[in-house]
Amino acid sequence: GGDITGACSLDSPPVSAAEKPAEGKAGTASGKVGVILPDTTSSTRYETYDAPLLKSALSEAGLTPDIQNAQGDINKFASLAQNMIGAGVKVLIIDSIDAASGAGVEKQADAAGVPVIDYDRVNLGGTAPYYVSFDNEDVGKLQAQTLVDCLDKSGADKPNIIMMNGGTDVDNNAVLFSKGAHSVLDPLQKEGKLTITQEATVKGWKVENAAPTFQQAFTADGGDVDGVLAANDDIANAVIGVLKTNGLDGKVVVTGQDAGVQGLQNIITGTQSMTVFKDVKLEATAAAQLAIALAAGTDPAEAGLTLAPFEDPEAPSHKLEALLLPAQVITQANISDVIDAGALKADEICQGI
Ligand code: BGC
Repeated sequence: GGDITGACSLDSPPVSAAEKPAEGKAGTASGKVGVILPDTTSSTRYETYDAPLLKSALSEAGLTPDIQNAQGDINKFASLAQNMIGAGVKVLIIDSIDAASGAGVEKQADAAGVPVIDYDRVNLGGTAPYYVSFDNEDVGKLQAQTLVDCLDKSGADKPNIIMMNGGTDVDNNAVLFSKGAHSVLDPLQKEGKLTITQEATVKGWKVENAAPTFQQAFTADGGDVDGVLAANDDIANAVIGVLKTNGLDGKVVVTGQDAGVQGLQNIITGTQSMTVFKDVKLEATAAAQLAIALAAGTDPAEAGLTLAPFEDPEAPSHKLEALLLPAQVITQANISDVIDAGALKADEICQGI
């Protein structure tokens, strides 16, 4: 008799029923897929969530992902794209720094016959046929509604609100977040139930400008603020820093977005009131399924993906089909939902607090 060997290697390992792709869904494909993410500083999401989740979603489908980050540099973004197209990628998935440079990359890809998926940020005025993201206007509504509910709960009378937008100058998402928030806050302001005392933008989502931008708005408003609509967790954290210098951290309702570790820690310690959890696993999986269909030359609709037409106001001839996912509010009461969804582990959130 020989020794029993625990290690086992099979060419086609059995797939458990639960792991089998649902019938009608895109299966597998082969070939390279290029992914370019915008930066590592405007949100922790790109390194924490997008890069690893896109890698596993694409690899599981049999594709060979090349995932790069442009580090906030549009020239680097363009040269990464050029290299990927030169290396023969079948599909390019881009989360652009701004729409104009994203559209430029799309032109190059078009010329080489490489289909492009706009990932998370749409390039208005571009040519990509597909867009995968969340319902971004709803994200802004969720932030504003939770802000209002938290202020109500704290008994604030006619609260003063400062709006801290993200990169509305470069990113249509930021425009939609702000639009969604205004759709909730403006009617209440008209009724005299609250006042938006200041509205400022962190241009280009450049987080190093978030604290000075908030400081300026805070000073202009005379320091009398009850709530801050911060576009994401990274801006929220900068806002909390300024509030802290003024002895106001934990005393002002502050929103966020992305369910980043710092944001969740700020929620636990009580300096941030909410974040918006966008389950990037769903976004990465949807983008991967779309990439599989495009790499295999099959119709995404036949592959079971539900796409809806998306208007490009800057280029009416630009026909786009979009898959927009739902987002979820996280407060102190339901932080465990982020853990249950598998986005983070409890010890990752609790480390250092
Ligand atoms: C994304 C947000 C992110 C922000 C800054 C937006 O386009 O949707 O999740 O916080 O960019 O990177």
